[in-house]
This record gives sequence, structure tokens and C-alpha cells, in this order.
Amino acid sequence: MSGSILSRARADLLALAGYSSARMEASSGALWLNANESPWPSPVDAGQGLHRYPDPQPAGLRARFADWLGVPAENLLVGRGSDEAIDLLTRAFCRAGVDAVITSPPTFGMYQVSARIQGARVVEVPLDAANGFAWPLDGILSAIDETTKLVWVCTPNNPTGTTVPRDAILDLARGLEDRALVVVDEAYAEFGDAQSLAGEAAKPGNLAVLRTLSKAHALAGARVGCVVADASVIALLRRLMAPYPLPTPSVVAAEAALAPAALAITASRIALVRAERARMAGALAKIPGVREVLPSQANFLTVRLDDGPRTYETLLACGIVVRDVSRHPSLAGCLRITIGTPEENDRVRSALAERARAAA
Ligand SMILES: *Cc1c(COP(=O)(O)O)cnc(C)c1O
Repeated sequence: MSGSILSRARADLLALAGYSSARMEASSGALWLNANESPWPSPVDAGQGLHRYPDPQPAGLRARFADWLGVPAENLLVGRGSDEAIDLLTRAFCRAGVDAVITSPPTFGMYQVSARIQGARVVEVPLDAANGFAWPLDGILSAIDETTKLVWVCTPNNPTGTTVPRDAILDLARGLEDRALVVVDEAYAEFGDAQSLAGEAAKPGNLAVLRTLSKAHALAGARVGCVVADASVIALLRRLMAPYPLPTPSVVAAEAALAPAALAITASRIALVRAERARMAGALAKIPGVREVLPSQANFLTVRLDDGPRTYETLLACGIVVRDVSRHPSLAGCLRITIGTPEENDRVRSALAERARAAA
């Protein structure tokens, strides 16, 4: 039934009207004297009109996202990256001390951080490390109870680079029948072979998809991403959000990044990252001390080494900063290495090969 997932959101928030900003109350006029802004551009303004508050949900940017993802604009919320979306969804659905979210570690840390900040429980149903980090659909289904509000699915997953089959996610969403919202974090979707679930998330129901401009689109510093979900969920998140979430320079950059010219350049870079990922995976697997290179559909490789943490230090001494992800039991000895330019990747490969030679 359309919008019934909303009945699982916090009842106290459903009754909340939300802040009505000056920008929301009027959208056209010739003299803007309603928001206590400066009538003059700042002396440091480079023509962007930063003396005016930004549109809370710029129509132009939403239209670009809608075009890019092939979904209606009413099913889209644009915000400050996926991190803000994770926080908003957690706050919208989870009652402190009562409700729970399900995560499948090893995975992105923000799902559990946002849950803990909100006072929600985190139920961990780990990926099946013995089976290629397969997604534990059955385990998730048996972990679900009356208090489960959100199920986090990260595909391609950070930090394993592995994926979750599209059909399995759709089965879970259908099986939950609006008892919980299934949130698919597609931060690395551009680098993988799988089709996005954004189109499915735009249909009425309990599936949501997060996208970001931080990775493939090279705008991590602009902080822009979006949520695709049932229109009723989008409307609720909109009311919880900060009144002017998107800084004007970020809106300008994001709109340009989603225009055809930039998307074409981004596509060629994605192709290069994918080629480099394959090249590096092959090269690293041959280096003594490398036990395993996890098959990755993202813009990084997670590599298991005989001595991960010491290798981390060796790379650091060469000025190469990677991520030590070895703390998770199923990732013992693992480092996560972002795919850089071909030259940067060669430096990583040489440093690892050199270390192996010195140890031999
Ligand atoms: C990097 C990352 C994000 C962060 O996205 P922002 O849009 O920059 O907040 C979200 N999810 C995953 C899995 C990530 O790795």
C-alpha cells in the first residue's frame, strides 16, 4: 500500500510541522526583504549571490538528479552527502531506547554511529566471510522483529568491495511488507556492473536508495548526495532537515557535475578506474606476502597481507596513505587501497614489491 512504510516512522515526528523558512514561504518577487539578508553581495562574493539564502531544494539540481537516475523529482531529496541521509533516516524512524537497525559488518561505519547517536540499537548480522562475504539474507530475515526499523545494505560494500544481488534485496523489501525500510547505499554503484535500484526505490514502498557525488563524481568537498524513496518518506525527511542544507557553491558545482559534458568525462574516468582496478588486482596478487585480493566492484581494492598493519606502516613511511581495515575479525591483515591515477597505483605496487624483496 502506498505510503504505509510511513506508519513505521516516529509518530512524534509525523505530527511535527517543521520549520518554515523565509525561503520556503515565498519563491518569487522583485524586492527580497523577508529574510534579513544583506541587500549587497559580500565583498568577497565572486558572482554567486552568496548574500541570499539558498533554495532548500533547488529545482534545477533536483531535476538533474531526477534525469540522471531516471526517477521523478518528488521521490528525491538532495542533501549534504549520504552521511546526512543516513542520519536523517535514522532520526526519522528510530525511537531512542526502543528501535533497532540491522547492519551487516564489515561495512560502512556511519550506519551504527548514527544509530548510537540516536539511541537506537544496532543488530549486527555479519556478511558470510567464509563464503566470499556473501550477504546474509536468511540471517537478516530471522533477526527482524517488531523493533527493526531500518535494514542497511551497502552495495558495492565498503570495505569489502563485494556486492549484494539485486533480486535478493528486492526479495527482502517485499518480504518485509513495510515493516522496515530497506536502505541501499549505492555510494560506489558507478564503479560496478549492477544496475541501480533507484528506479525501484522511487516506487511506493519500503525501499530507499542513497547516491552521492563524493566518489565517482569527484565532489567529496562539495558534500552533495541524494535519497530516493517513497514520496511520503521524502516529505518527512524534508521536514526534519536543516532549513538551508545546501550551500550555493555546492549546488552550482553539483548541477554542473550532472550536466552531460561533465558526466561524459566522469564516465571515461570510471572506465579508467575499472581498468586500473583489474590491472592492480592482478599485479598485487603476484606479490609475495599478499594472500588475497578481494574481488571489488568499487574504486578500491581490499588486500589481505601476511602482515597488514606492518605493511601499512611501511607504505606510510613511503608517503603512501591507505586504510588499515584489519581490526574487523574477518578482515584480519587487510588494507583498503583506493584506486588512484595509473602513476599513483604504480607507486603502491612498487612499494609493496620492494617490501617483499627486502623481507625475502
Ligand atoms: C564514502 C561513503 C559514503 C559517504 O558519502 P558522502 O556522500 O560523502 O557523505 C556513504 N556510504 C559509503 C558506503 C561510503 O563509502
